[in-house]
Amino acid sequence: MRLRLPNISGLLKLLALSALVSCLPSQRRQLTDFQLSALIDSHPPLPALSPNYYTKTTTASSRSAQSSSGASNGQNNNNPAALLTPILIPRTPGSENATIVRNHFTTHFDALSNWTAVTDAFTATVPEYGGVMGMLNFTNLIFRLTPPGSDDMPSRYLTLVAHYDSKISPFGFIGATDSAAPCAILMYLAETLTPYILARWKADISAAADDTGLQIIFMDGEEALVEWSDKDSLYGARHLAELWEAERRPSQFGRLSVLQDIDLFVLLDLLGADSPSVPCFFEITSWACRDIAETEATARNAGLAKTKGRKPFVQSDNVMQNVFIDDDHMPFLTRGTPVVHVIPIPFPTVWHTMDDDGAHLSSDAVHDWAVIVTGWVAGYLGLGDFIA
Ligand SMILES: [Zn+2]
Repeated sequence: MRLRLPNISGLLKLLALSALVSCLPSQRRQLTDFQLSALIDSHPPLPALSPNYYTKTTTASSRSAQSSSGASNGQNNNNPAALLTPILIPRTPGSENATIVRNHFTTHFDALSNWTAVTDAFTATVPEYGGVMGMLNFTNLIFRLTPPGSDDMPSRYLTLVAHYDSKISPFGFIGATDSAAPCAILMYLAETLTPYILARWKADISAAADDTGLQIIFMDGEEALVEWSDKDSLYGARHLAELWEAERRPSQFGRLSVLQDIDLFVLLDLLGADSPSVPCFFEITSWACRDIAETEATARNAGLAKTKGRKPFVQSDNVMQNVFIDDDHMPFLTRGTPVVHVIPIPFPTVWHTMDDDGAHLSSDAVHDWAVIVTGWVAGYLGLGDFIA
């Protein structure tokens, strides 16, 4: 992503975008201290999200067997599969390692109940670099948990997004905060919440059809290959936003395109470094940003945070409308999708350096982000009564 200084045209563009985005009612659903504690106790984020935790590759079939034997949702809590460490490898677009990381995601979601996968694979023109020129293959992976009985009316989805590609230079760059840790946090979130979401839908099948589903996007090609520009960056996000905008919905659905199935687009980026400070960026979705801050406060009050005694990660007092960041949300925002951008300002000190690796991640910060985001999504989806 790129941080740009605000200018008049950028500010005017943002104002125009705010007008495009339809006003959203606040869900205002939050887990209580007790519910959040029960949720996290039932499924602790560590060690699966530790950058130092390795397990043997666990096959989808063996994890399904664990699931049917009563372990929580495909995972044995005494020996959970490593979620983060398999992503801590260079994973440039089109590389073998990118395939390995996608397989890691697919194996994980295959082992969870009821998730469906959609692949958006495409070839794009790229600038010449390191002997590669012309065209390169990219693959976005989308996983969905869809409410039952929603065949007549397509579901809307709370959509959580992180990019999995890593920068081509410097050679060997890992991108632990950028964005391996956010990807692993989304894997953890899906694993933790699936049984509660399914329990909610099972409890009232007829009401479930109107519920919001959960959609997780692992985006490819966020990074520039040579130098950041409108054409050399955000390859995956630009392709997916265009694709979904072109996929029209019949008029009776009241939505123009598949793009409008997105209830809220929540982009996680550059998370996992010590002492982050994440502002709210958009007035129109500041209610959601404040809800995330409220979940953080609940987590800290309940003693669930490992980064004790520090200022909160999410600073929701002010909306930072005058900061302009190019990131995977932009192709969606410019098409009217409501966005929450969870990214620290300033960026982590390791940003785009070789130090953005597992050794420089804060396990405690990764843990706390997992608690905050998972707890907030549980509230958003109305899971409180099904947790405790
Ligand atoms: Zn980056």
